[in-house]
Amino acid sequence: MLTTECNLKCRYCYGEALEDVDADFPDFEIDYCLPKRISYDVDSLDRFCRQHPDCVLTFYGGEPLLCVDEAKQLMDQVEAKHFLIQTNGLLLDRLESRYVNRFHMILVSIDGDEALTDFYRGKGAFTKVIINCWNNCYGANKHLRTSKMASKQ
Ligand code: SF4
Repeated sequence: MLTTECNLKCRYCYGEALEDVDADFPDFEIDYCLPKRISYDVDSLDRFCRQHPDCVLTFYGGEPLLCVDEAKQLMDQVEAKHFLIQTNGLLLDRLESRYVNRFHMILVSIDGDEALTDFYRGKGAFTKVIINCWNNCYGANKHLRTSKMASKQ
């Protein structure tokens, strides 16, 4: 995890979801103080990964591409068999193709069709994600999967 921050405010994420938890589990006390950014000792992470030949490094958040420089640094300096990323797709155009091409898999989350995705994520989110995937990932000839968030409208 690189950050708990996100450039979206999906209706079901964090705030609202945690309110439900509060209501459903009144006996639990939840610490909401999540760090905004998480940094790593790159050398230690590299040493750790080198011990495991099948090491897979997955970037997620929040939105990991808010930390594009940190992600690139890790990809440059950590020896992993594969790199994966779970992203909302809106910032994929921030990452140069030479990095996009190195991802074994890019998981892009949407909620379903355009109407449903825009309902949860904001108007225009669906189109922007599709355009970003088309422009930045499709040509990369990599595995691009769209993960649908489980949700009820
Ligand atoms: S894209 Fe993911 S992390 Fe960001 S607000 Fe939506 S569900 Fe939460």
